Amino acid sequence: MISIERLTKVYGSGPSATVVLDGLDFRVGTGEIFAVVGPSGAGKSTLAQCVNLLERPTSGSVVVNGENLSQLSERRLRVARRRIGTIFQSDGLYGRRTAAQNVALPLEYLGVTPAESRTRVAELLDRVGLSSRAAHYPHQLSGGQRQRVGIARALALRPSVLLSDEATSGLDPESTASIVRLLKELRDDLDLSILFITHEMDTVLQVADSVARLEHGRITESGRIVDLLRNP
Ligand code: ADP
Ligand code: ADP
Repeated sequence: MISIERLTKVYGSGPSATVVLDGLDFRVGTGEIFAVVGPSGAGKSTLAQCVNLLERPTSGSVVVNGENLSQLSERRLRVARRRIGTIFQSDGLYGRRTAAQNVALPLEYLGVTPAESRTRVAELLDRVGLSSRAAHYPHQLSGGQRQRVGIARALALRPSVLLSDEATSGLDPESTASIVRLLKELRDDLDLSILFITHEMDTVLQVADSVARLEHGRITESGRIVDLLRNP
């Protein structure tokens, strides 16, 4: 589970200070897909960077399974980052590495033995439905398949949180639907907390259990999708 508590991010200081996130509060339970949806400029990428610990919040906390990660030293932060897997709009794969080699990267950095890594990569590619594409290079895969490789790589270190930062933006509706199905499977099978950040409300309605609307750095409304669909 991840909770975001009074999260505030201010860029600059004095008269030129910009409040980009203004006291956000929400939690994503284990086995839940929570969407944050908002227009361009709302603060979505800043939120994503605070959640995956690339940016430090100006104040407030990012708490994963009871531990406040926003207060950790740089050294401890490197380890803490493993708890959060991130997938981006651009799949971020290395073009000169096969699907399997891309998924293996985080394991290599961690010094996992090649034999262990092979087993784990096979398991991960199977989980995202790409066992038959292990030896393909990114340019030989569709956009949706590349995004699945990105998901397998994000799961390599067994995170408890999966952060999706516009991961379906730019995919065609069919590929988006397949990523949506996969995320729901992962939610159910791996007890992940999935934070799904996007500007696409139609995808939110397909994928999320709950949603918060982000506008000008504030959450203006939030609720469960079933309730939204009942009283639109
Ligand atoms: P979104 O991802 O929803 O489009 P962003 O998080 O990229 O929103 O940006 C939200 C606001 O924060 C924008 O007004 C943007 O100009 C501002 N912003 C983002 N990063 C910085 C920065 N490093 N310094 C100053 N302002 C920033
Ligand atoms: P077990 O605890 O017996 O490994 P799980 O149901 O937790 O059973 O996991 C089933 C499979 O999924 C295992 O192969 C495990 O390595 C993998 N797995 C579990 N959690 C995660 C996670 N957060 N990310 C990626 N893979 C995971």
